[in-house]
Amino acid sequence: MEEDNKTEDGSKWIEKAKLNPRVYLFWWRLRNKAIPTNQFLCYRRLMGHDNCPRGCNILEDGDHVITTCGKLKEVLEILNSWEFWIPNCCKWMDDKSKWMVNLYCNTIYLSWKARNLWVHENKISSPFIIAFKAVDIAAVIRNSACISSGIENANQPEWLLNSWHPSAPDWIKVNIDAALFKYYKARIGVVFRDCQGKFLMAFGISYIH
Ligand SMILES: [Zn+2]
Repeated sequence: MEEDNKTEDGSKWIEKAKLNPRVYLFWWRLRNKAIPTNQFLCYRRLMGHDNCPRGCNILEDGDHVITTCGKLKEVLEILNSWEFWIPNCCKWMDDKSKWMVNLYCNTIYLSWKARNLWVHENKISSPFIIAFKAVDIAAVIRNSACISSGIENANQPEWLLNSWHPSAPDWIKVNIDAALFKYYKARIGVVFRDCQGKFLMAFGISYIH
């Protein structure tokens, strides 16, 4: 029973995935009901309503943040159109690779940051940019040198420079990673950066091998 609970709240696959520390801390707070959703704030009488501030018109609790928020679904749809096929329910992450768990957790984290940017600074984040950043972080997170650092800047992250070197001037560098799955499935992720390390674009492709 205890094992089932661990699986359901994500602790099992989150520990396995070795997330970026900031993403890991966000998920730890999420699992411990310690992020300031509107439900959280309303319960403490710090907010007059508990609806999602991004126009969903339903209760914003932790479950809404990781599964049902319309803004999150827009990002997941973009990632799925790139053939990453991320489920919109974290209970399905048990059989996913570490890389896919990283991509999923990064996506939720960045979606929450975009929500806060809207709430506190009235700035709208493009779902395409969120999807790009989620892939970008997941593409380099496997290196242990990155895991001990934080996410500073999506365009020129300091932690990226510990393990990644830019291309020659006026060239574009392409990093490719691949994963093999059961039943002959394979997935390839590709990230493009310019000679200053600035993120340009990313995409994923699924194959049968
Ligand atoms: Zn919402």
